[in-house]
Amino acid sequence: MTSTVTLSLVAPLSGTLRSIDESVDPVFAGRLIGDGVAIDPADSVVLAPCEGTISQLHDAKHAVAIKTDAGLEILIHVGVDTVVLKGEGFEAFVSIGDKVTVGQKLLSFDAEVVGAKAASLQTAIMITTGETGVVINQGSKVTAGQSKVFAIGDNAEQEAASLVSEAVPAVQQESITLVEPFVLKNPVGLHARPSATLIQIIKRFNSDVTILNRDNSKECKANSLTAMMGLSTVMGSNLEITVTGPDAQDAMTAVLEGFESGLGEDVSGFVAPTTVEAEPEEAPLLGPVEGEDGRLPGVKAAPGMAIGKLRHLEHELPSYPEAGVGVADELGQLDYGIQQAREALQKLVSKMEAEHVGGHAEVFVAHQQLLDDPAISERAHKLIETGKSAMWAWHKSFLAEADDMRKLDNPMLAARAIDVEDVGLLVLRVLMGIDDANEQMPENTILCLEDITPSEVVTLDRSRVIGIVTLHGGATSHAAILAGSLGIPYLVNVPASVRDYDNGTDVILNTNKGYVLVNPTQEEIGRTVARQERAATEHEEALKVADQPAVTQDGHHVEIAANIANNDDAEKAVKMGAEAVGLLRSEFLYMERAVEPSMDEQVKAYEAILTTMGKDRPVIIRTLDVGGDKPLAYLPLPREENPFLGERGVRIGINRPTMLRKQVRAILQAAHAGYARIMFPMVSSIDEFRAVKKLVLEEQENSGVKVEVGIMIEVPSAALLADHFAKEVDFFSIGTNDLTQYTLAVDRGHPKLAARVDGLHPAVLRLIDMTVKAANKEGKWTGICGSLASDPAAVPVLVGLGVQELSVSVPAIPVVKARVRSLNYEQCQQIAREALTLSLAEEVRQLSA
Ligand code: PEP
Ligand code: MG
Repeated sequence: MTSTVTLSLVAPLSGTLRSIDESVDPVFAGRLIGDGVAIDPADSVVLAPCEGTISQLHDAKHAVAIKTDAGLEILIHVGVDTVVLKGEGFEAFVSIGDKVTVGQKLLSFDAEVVGAKAASLQTAIMITTGETGVVINQGSKVTAGQSKVFAIGDNAEQEAASLVSEAVPAVQQESITLVEPFVLKNPVGLHARPSATLIQIIKRFNSDVTILNRDNSKECKANSLTAMMGLSTVMGSNLEITVTGPDAQDAMTAVLEGFESGLGEDVSGFVAPTTVEAEPEEAPLLGPVEGEDGRLPGVKAAPGMAIGKLRHLEHELPSYPEAGVGVADELGQLDYGIQQAREALQKLVSKMEAEHVGGHAEVFVAHQQLLDDPAISERAHKLIETGKSAMWAWHKSFLAEADDMRKLDNPMLAARAIDVEDVGLLVLRVLMGIDDANEQMPENTILCLEDITPSEVVTLDRSRVIGIVTLHGGATSHAAILAGSLGIPYLVNVPASVRDYDNGTDVILNTNKGYVLVNPTQEEIGRTVARQERAATEHEEALKVADQPAVTQDGHHVEIAANIANNDDAEKAVKMGAEAVGLLRSEFLYMERAVEPSMDEQVKAYEAILTTMGKDRPVIIRTLDVGGDKPLAYLPLPREENPFLGERGVRIGINRPTMLRKQVRAILQAAHAGYARIMFPMVSSIDEFRAVKKLVLEEQENSGVKVEVGIMIEVPSAALLADHFAKEVDFFSIGTNDLTQYTLAVDRGHPKLAARVDGLHPAVLRLIDMTVKAANKEGKWTGICGSLASDPAAVPVLVGLGVQELSVSVPAIPVVKARVRSLNYEQCQQIAREALTLSLAEEVRQLSA
């Protein structure tokens, strides 16, 4: 829209002036709010750029708008994504309805606080009423309250031109460049305050100043707070200062003096690095050492061993044009890309169903929902309408959406950012015509990548890819669960030095022992092959008699049950010879969904599983075990410092009984289909059990259906007080994954320490012993459903401790049964007694081997 109104905006902040299309925020850059300018601020008090009335003041105090008497509205938006700070670090000096004059103080912000939390401090000044204008002296340094930055109206061009000529110095001096090294003395590096002081110093000169952090090769112009904070400097950083301009000599002297005197901070405590003797770093005293014998340690995400060749996979995308070829064409392209991606996801779901892992397909159903969600496509449409290509617009939009999600104070949305990126890349690849699926991997590939998404796991060519290692990723992520279900060994948190080895390097992947062995000797390969063959033969033999009970040679029966997540698993468990389900992780029914499953859905899911298992195979349904570490979209929980010690497991049901009651009701309603039992996770105190048991009794009373009710022993306090619990529960099932992490105080997924989380630690065994004895005294039984039960080496000790049921991963059922049949119960009891006297997990492993 052209306007006859003539208005010049004055800089609200000092700093470097940019046109709005240089904004770091794609929405602002696309002029979706309006025309205007952006300033990389050198100070932090926002002044009125024109006269008018305050028409908007956001609650988060990061944005303020002024309406002029002529009806134009000018919005000043401080920083990018600063709304999420909810006012933290901001102060407002005006209210809606106040009349303001040019240069009047509107807002101020704490550059250190806001700079640390926001994506950028760049401030946008935009005309929201549709008028366009001309930037005055784009790229120049502007002074708050003085420099005119934007002219609007019929005479805008002339006004801008006249001000440009005013800005050009009458006599150009010759520009020179000077470079000086400097060791930074500031105690916490170049954070906001010293950076702001430096900018003030530089503003006195007509030279450009660049700072290079020689320690990490990061470089930036010294005109932006955020850029300087991004240099990641610390006390002692080796800097290189480059000054270019007509007054470079004076500017360099002033800059060096500024640095020397601490840029407004006390630097008297600085000790020159030359006086500190660098001490050689000793190797860690315990645990696997990186590179020792060619072994790179990692954490098991899916079990198994594989011998193959390393293949690095980078997620690099080819470049693509920013400008579109026409709005209609680009919109059509985007629609096509989204449609193709939707079909690809549908094929993926069908493929998973065909491969009997359809129970894990919810994640891709959720991806399809994301494609239907207008949030990303609307952003992209708006950018395309400004002349951008579909690829550019889509890429920027899904990255911005994922970024927004990560910043929100909602762990569920933050966790879904990876899904947005996964599905976003899927569409982008379609738009670029990339078909990764056709890239042929060599045979026996052990794939090495930064991280892997669930869809990448499912689409791997499993005739060629026999193992996965990633530098990042969670041992309990969806990708990990899928790799486990598909039988692909997967190791996470492998050190970045794995990148030093070329494609084609021979490796042995042993996720059970937590390492990749690089360039193994022939002897090591031979040993692994022999081990694999032995395991395959044992598995085949065990499978032949999988339907037989697990009875020791001296006649002691141990029930072998399955840990399952859905009906697919239940069907496999029956085929593998499971005598029961010792743990149905019901949370899988609740995850990857936008809303809580209805009663009807829950009843149907439980009925299906109970029917598969039949009346003679009991099914322990564990109530929802989520929390800070496993968030749900429809269960908003605050971010927690220590999610494993927070609102988790039964604590969720106690604090939100409506959801628990619905689940209990659904279990009771489905119970007619088989033999259902209810179990509560993470009980740490008897009043928790009494509270939820009361709820179950109420529902049993109402429905007239009764089921046994037990608890997991996975917190040391529950094991220590097992004698009290045993009087009130029907059974115990020991969750050794959590019991071990809580007893040894080691996070079960910790990248460095996870290898130390061994359930055969005598401290854990003593707690198991206490639990079994307490249960026996009251005539109750004890099972184990943690992963220790699936470890053949642990079976003799666990059986010897008197555990009556071992609930194991589905593929492990035949082998664990076979192991029990090979044992003598009396000998196991002796082993268990001795294990309780030992002090180290390794000693127990040697004893039990
Ligand atoms: C356990 O903690 O051992 C357990 C079986 O529960 P989860 O692994 O689901 O936490
Ligand atoms: Mg647990």
